[in-house]
Amino acid sequence: MAATAYLISPTTPPDYHRVISPTLQIPSDTNVSIPVGLLACQRDPLLRTLDTTVVSVSVAQPPVTPAQGKKIKKAVLAPEIPNEPLLHVLLHDTVIFPEGGGQPTDTGCITTEADAAVWEVIQAKRHGGHAVHYVKIREGVSVDTALLAFQTGAKVTVALGDEGFERRYDHMSMHTSQHILSALLETRLNLPTLSWSLTSYPTPCYVEVPRGMAQEEITSIQSEANKLVFEGRRVHVEVEELDPIQEQAKSVPVLESGRSVGKALPQDYTGGVKRVVVIDGVDRNPCCGTHLPSIHNLQLFLLPHTEALSRSSTTSARLYFLSGPRLIAHLTSAHSHLASTAAILSCGPSLVPERVTQVVEERKKAEKRVTDIEQELAEYIAKGLVSQIISKKDGTLHTHHIHRTDDSGNTLGFLTAIAFALGAALSSVEGVHPYMLVLSSTPSTQTTNTVSTVLVLGSEDSKVKAVGDALKSKLNVKGGGKGSRWSGKYIGVWKENRENTGIDEILNTI
Ligand SMILES: [Zn+2]
Repeated sequence: MAATAYLISPTTPPDYHRVISPTLQIPSDTNVSIPVGLLACQRDPLLRTLDTTVVSVSVAQPPVTPAQGKKIKKAVLAPEIPNEPLLHVLLHDTVIFPEGGGQPTDTGCITTEADAAVWEVIQAKRHGGHAVHYVKIREGVSVDTALLAFQTGAKVTVALGDEGFERRYDHMSMHTSQHILSALLETRLNLPTLSWSLTSYPTPCYVEVPRGMAQEEITSIQSEANKLVFEGRRVHVEVEELDPIQEQAKSVPVLESGRSVGKALPQDYTGGVKRVVVIDGVDRNPCCGTHLPSIHNLQLFLLPHTEALSRSSTTSARLYFLSGPRLIAHLTSAHSHLASTAAILSCGPSLVPERVTQVVEERKKAEKRVTDIEQELAEYIAKGLVSQIISKKDGTLHTHHIHRTDDSGNTLGFLTAIAFALGAALSSVEGVHPYMLVLSSTPSTQTTNTVSTVLVLGSEDSKVKAVGDALKSKLNVKGGGKGSRWSGKYIGVWKENRENTGIDEILNTI
């Protein structure tokens, strides 16, 4: 049987962009710049390249560096503007979307026909009603030569390029999905979208809703969205003249909490176009962004919990979502994390949570056992020391140094445990048995930064202090103490024939 494939058209259908006003004209005069609202990137979101002409050009000096500590509150940062003069180029029409409607700027390039030179467009911004391209002046080219290449009427080709289109495709996927998500939240759960953020790739985007959501609510919205995706609902755009009086009369809805829902048309927009994005049977929403002509392939994944956001008087929540290329990136990285963890644990991916719980439990038990055995060992060492101390019957001072190799994170804790056990054992012994002990501990591998621990304990406080002072001055041990104990740290490589010999010499002079 012969295979057949059904392919979705890689071009935008002709009825995607609908001018619904009999009087609205898309300017055809190439000396005029088409306003934002009617740009090629908005009429045909899959168009990657366009031949057009320059309307005007100017030179912009680099912006003054923002004051230190002043943070720009923006989820997606536009590509950085270099600290050099840029050309601000106004074209008759463009495939490069200027930032707006929550959607970040596109990047791309302009080829000037006369010299076949390719110029990088690092971002595009809406100035009033028009898209201005921020063009980087090519290396070795003077500002005057660059201005000449972009003189009014010059023929150019504006393009997104592969990288620019990939970036745009991701933005369109997330933006179109946001329309579906917001519409379903509003109509099914009466949850208006207070704001949303198209975050930087590949992190999830989010919509902000007035309250947290239960997992069942999230699951039901996700499955309903994916039914619409499966049906491949179509998207189109309707444009007409913007009635400024009507627009001004409209106000952004405000919730009981005082929080406004969404954003009004930017006050500085002078393009004069009213643009409504329609997803068949799902949503009609004024928006200037770029949206895919169909929601095919936009499988929506909602992170199964909302993140509470506390504001002064009200609590809203963020619901994170993924679709299109970002969803694939998320699945790829989640799979690779899980697969590598499964490999470490030598089990199948589905057994990872169980195995991790087991490892954590085993670790807790092992830690408890180490603590118990350390205590037992401390008592055993103390017992040995006590028998040495009491074996001396002539009442003279018993001195002794014990050096240990120990890789524990708390070596002083262990040395202190020996001191406690020693004190407890000696308290039940009759008679006077003067002693002076130095306990020290070093890790098994050493560098110049290695820390070794020293603990001094004795039956006479003044002698403990004298040993501590000698350790400071002769061995460069940093530390201090009170009464019968003195503790310190030695930084560097601890050598048997240097530090240990040094301690023996100190004890011999006490
Ligand atoms: Zn939109």
